[in-house]
Amino acid sequence: MRVSEELIAGIRSALPGLELSENEPMSAHCSFRIGGPARLMCCPKTAAEAAALLKLLAERGAPFELMGNGTNLLVPDEGLDKVVVRLGEAMSAAELLGEGRIRAGAGITLAKLAVFAANEGLSGLEFAHGIPGSLGGAVFMNAGAYGGEMKDVLESVEYAETDGAVRSVPAAELGLSYRHSAFEGTERLVTAATVRLTPKEPEEIRARMRELLEKRRASQPLDMPSAGSTFKRPAGGFAAALIDEAGLKGFAIGGAQVSEKHAGFVINRGGATFGDVLRLMEHIQKTVFDRSGIRLEPEVRTLKD
Ligand SMILES: Cc1cc2nc3c(=O)[nH]c(=O)nc-3n(C[C@H](O)[C@H](O)[C@H](O)COP(=O)(O)OP(=O)(O)OC[C@H]3O[C@@H](n4cnc5c(N)ncnc54)[C@H](O)[C@@H]3O)c2cc1C
Repeated sequence: MRVSEELIAGIRSALPGLELSENEPMSAHCSFRIGGPARLMCCPKTAAEAAALLKLLAERGAPFELMGNGTNLLVPDEGLDKVVVRLGEAMSAAELLGEGRIRAGAGITLAKLAVFAANEGLSGLEFAHGIPGSLGGAVFMNAGAYGGEMKDVLESVEYAETDGAVRSVPAAELGLSYRHSAFEGTERLVTAATVRLTPKEPEEIRARMRELLEKRRASQPLDMPSAGSTFKRPAGGFAAALIDEAGLKGFAIGGAQVSEKHAGFVINRGGATFGDVLRLMEHIQKTVFDRSGIRLEPEVRTLKD
């Protein structure tokens, strides 16, 4: 056991107000509906609490993972003998800063943030309304859709570090590019972000959000568990088109299936295991590579023990 009783007792005593639960099923927190228990899940309520937790975990050499809304994650069926630090509702307050700027906690969903912006007559987050992740996850991934991406609207980002500090960084220093930010490969937890938007009539903003949601509903299997696009867009092509052309639409391994509606999505058609999804992803990569010479790179992030 890497997450020992002693570690859990230490966290409880050092951070008595911290919300935590032991052996928390990850499938309940991941949109794929796959994943066994996390030995310990902690949900900080403030950036200071999050920073203190990260410091404690680092000092004790405890293995940990960061997560938001779990909409881009694949977790093993055996679970994780790790501490999962999850940001959600408790860190989701949004406030207007003036000059078209909104600062929000990293746990807010993009849908809620986009609606908040629309109600304030601020445009720029319409693209993000239908992306089911949290603001923190969207910063981490530089999430994007329909020609927009977080890079276009982010002004600055606040994050907690394993030295116990909370720092702020201008978005321009985050190396934001297609589904990438400088947070990748670090142990930094995004705790809040400020976006800069442009004034527009709320009804116009809402109309655009409705239009994009309709497009999404028409083209994506939103009624089935998934983690969105399984693979990144390769240079010079589209993953969904390559998978479709390889004749893989509807192809299944166990409970994991290439969506009939959108070949870019692997769905859990019922009872899919971690192994089913991984094997299907490998099969897709191999088949597409053999046919086109293009190697698809996963967009879905696989957590391992
Ligand atoms: C139906 C569906 C449609 C989707 N459509 C789109 C789309 O159009 N465009 C798009 O870009 N994505 C899309 N996605 C994928 C997903 O919603 C995005 O990648 C989103 O940004 C993930 O956010 P999350 O909070 O769910 O992150 P999680 O899945 O919880 O985590 C993903 C990664 O981000 C890291 N992370 C999460 N929160 C933080 C934080 N606070 N600080 C540091 N690191 C953090 C995690 O460590 C992990 O590596 C879709 C997913 C689904 C299920």
